[in-house]
Amino acid sequence: MKTRKILQALLMISLVAVLLLSFAACGKKKKPAPTEATTEPTVMTEATQSTEATTAPTQAPTEETTESTEPTCEHPNAKMVVDKEPTCRIQGSQHMECEECGYVGPAEVIEKIDHISSDWIVEKEATCLEQGNQYIECTMCKTRQANIPIPKTGHTPGEWILDKQATNTEPGKTHQECDVCKEVLATAEIPTTGTTGLAFKQNQDGTYTVTGIGTCKDTVIYIPGAYEGGAVTAIGEKAFAGCAKVEKIILPSSVTEIGDRAFYDSGIKEFTVPASVKKIGTQIFFQADKLDTVYYNSDYANETAPIFGATWIRKVVFGGKKVPAYVCQGASGLSEVVIGKTVTEIGNNAFEDCTNLGTVTIPDSVSAIGEASFAGCSALSNVVIPDSVTRINKRAFAGCSNLYTVTVPASMTKIGEEAFSGCKKLQTIDFQGKQAQWDKITKGTNWDYMVSNYTVNTKE
Ligand SMILES: [Zn+2]
Ligand SMILES: [Zn+2]
Ligand SMILES: [Zn+2]
Repeated sequence: MKTRKILQALLMISLVAVLLLSFAACGKKKKPAPTEATTEPTVMTEATQSTEATTAPTQAPTEETTESTEPTCEHPNAKMVVDKEPTCRIQGSQHMECEECGYVGPAEVIEKIDHISSDWIVEKEATCLEQGNQYIECTMCKTRQANIPIPKTGHTPGEWILDKQATNTEPGKTHQECDVCKEVLATAEIPTTGTTGLAFKQNQDGTYTVTGIGTCKDTVIYIPGAYEGGAVTAIGEKAFAGCAKVEKIILPSSVTEIGDRAFYDSGIKEFTVPASVKKIGTQIFFQADKLDTVYYNSDYANETAPIFGATWIRKVVFGGKKVPAYVCQGASGLSEVVIGKTVTEIGNNAFEDCTNLGTVTIPDSVSAIGEASFAGCSALSNVVIPDSVTRINKRAFAGCSNLYTVTVPASMTKIGEEAFSGCKKLQTIDFQGKQAQWDKITKGTNWDYMVSNYTVNTKE
């Protein structure tokens, strides 16, 4: 066993020796042309070095005639010369040079280098509503290495901008826009400014009620739309009662309620009930005997008591959807009524016993004349009922003792019970349709009771 191991070892040694010798011989043959060999630079370098180490001391003097005269240079100060810098895409190359002996080594590969990252580059800036984009690239090859969105910034609300100053009668306007993109972010109404010095009280919900004239000495009063940051929503009970010098009070659209006897015994001459008003107390104009004209734009109706009862109101102009029931019942000073284009219905008893009412203008938007709405209007002499009306309800014109002529449209389908009962002076009914149409109209019991001597004119 021992002898066998020794034999194996000897065999290995001799093999190594043979290999070394053949290597040396190979290197020697290639040495004269080092610059030509470019394909395998690393192997070439090792070969040259090993040649130097193994062959120089033993065989060089015998074979190399030209070099044998000079001493062999071991290139102690050899430098690597870069022929081509490597990039992130392409390998570079370099070679060794010895200045002392002029030796030029074979070309060697310089491996590719890593990408060189740039800083973040903004490709698209973010805006208020859209995200932007940024990326990192290689500064050499421009390959993108990372890409992330830039979050949208959102609007930057700026100061409120005044569009229109509020006045005593008109609310103003203001808006807020984005400082960056100028988009309008919000709009708001500025409450009407008002007369100063009035007295207020705060309501539980933070709104305000006008409670009195306070220190104000004006004859024309503008109720402000807001007071100390809260909307002015009501005129309180007896707020202007006894204010003999006040001739006009203008309400803003924030007011929804007028309290009992709000203008009782005041000097008020003209008044507008805005459409915003949803509730009116009793006797608001009681004993306000200077009251001349009221513009009634609300749809509020009090089914039990007249809004303009017990006053000397002369004229009412209706601008809502309906003439409320009982609104002017017993208003003995009322001489003129204008029913606006928006009105479709005249409520029950609306003008009952308005004994001075001589002029009524009814536009062609009204479809029905309510029960007893003009009953007892003893000053009414001529009534023109427009084309739009299809029904004259029960007692509508009963007791109009001075009614002389009535114009009835062809659209009429029903004339209620006692509608013209007691119209003792009625002479002419001008019907705008044919006799056959007139005959077809449904007529209630006693519709013409106590009307003795009238004629119906038809279109025939
Ligand atoms: Zn050298
Ligand atoms: Zn690159
Ligand atoms: Zn913006």
